[in-house]
Amino acid sequence: MLLMKFFEEKNDFHLTIFLYGDPSSKTLNLNEIKDYLKQNLGDIDVEVRKDFITYLLNSNDIDEFSEELVQCKVRDLSTPKFDIESLPGEIRYEKKLIECPEKKLSGILYDGGRLDVAFQSLIPQEELDFHNVHIVFTNRLFGTFDEKDYRYHARVIICGYPSIISTTGIVEAPAKSKEFYYLKQKYLMLGMEIPHEVIKEKLQGNFIEYDDPRLTEIMKGYVMQSVFYHLIYEPFCEEKNCRLYNAHWQKEVINAQLRDPEFCKKHEKILQDIRTRQIKVKNQ
Ligand SMILES: [Zn+2]
Repeated sequence: MLLMKFFEEKNDFHLTIFLYGDPSSKTLNLNEIKDYLKQNLGDIDVEVRKDFITYLLNSNDIDEFSEELVQCKVRDLSTPKFDIESLPGEIRYEKKLIECPEKKLSGILYDGGRLDVAFQSLIPQEELDFHNVHIVFTNRLFGTFDEKDYRYHARVIICGYPSIISTTGIVEAPAKSKEFYYLKQKYLMLGMEIPHEVIKEKLQGNFIEYDDPRLTEIMKGYVMQSVFYHLIYEPFCEEKNCRLYNAHWQKEVINAQLRDPEFCKKHEKILQDIRTRQIKVKNQ
């Protein structure tokens, strides 16, 4: 609401967007995303920074922050439970990940909300206001707890301050086609992973792989979801063809992010209003 009020009062608002990279993702090009944001949002500043933790964490605080990350780990997929003492080995592991952000990691699921709070604590006071949008790419996999089915579900994005986008989540969170799971099961019975040539021949293009050449194009839409969250508190759209569609299947991600049109009429109009600084408060 604060920013909406701000829009109402001042049409010449200024935004700076900070994009933090994920050095383990070889196909993620933040300079291309920077140009895309400028094209779509008009007169804004975009600064590309290296990975969020390396950029902002004071090296004296590395042990403490490593422990904070351990406290964000999901221990039980069916219960949010965080009063567990961190083991020295877990803290060492997090420290190693912080020191080598180019390392691919797997196997840990973090609670998205807690991770966001931990990340926010690193943003310096002078950059912590509504003029500054922080968008963090990470290879950490996070999820949110769903009260309806009492389970954690992996997510691609946590909209917050900062917004966090997972390059692992884009591969692991949206479900793949039934055919993929059928083939996976079939090869599992033979004690095998699906051979790469079978993936290529039968499933190519249907889902996003690690270091997918389409990653930058896909992530433009998730960055826009973060920006919409920041500006109007509505990151998602109901329209399946819009880049703001909250996709739960890989094929939906591909449809929303890689096929025309980019945005639905409503969001295209909002973008135009943002570019011309004509955005108005709808509800107080
Ligand atoms: Zn839309």
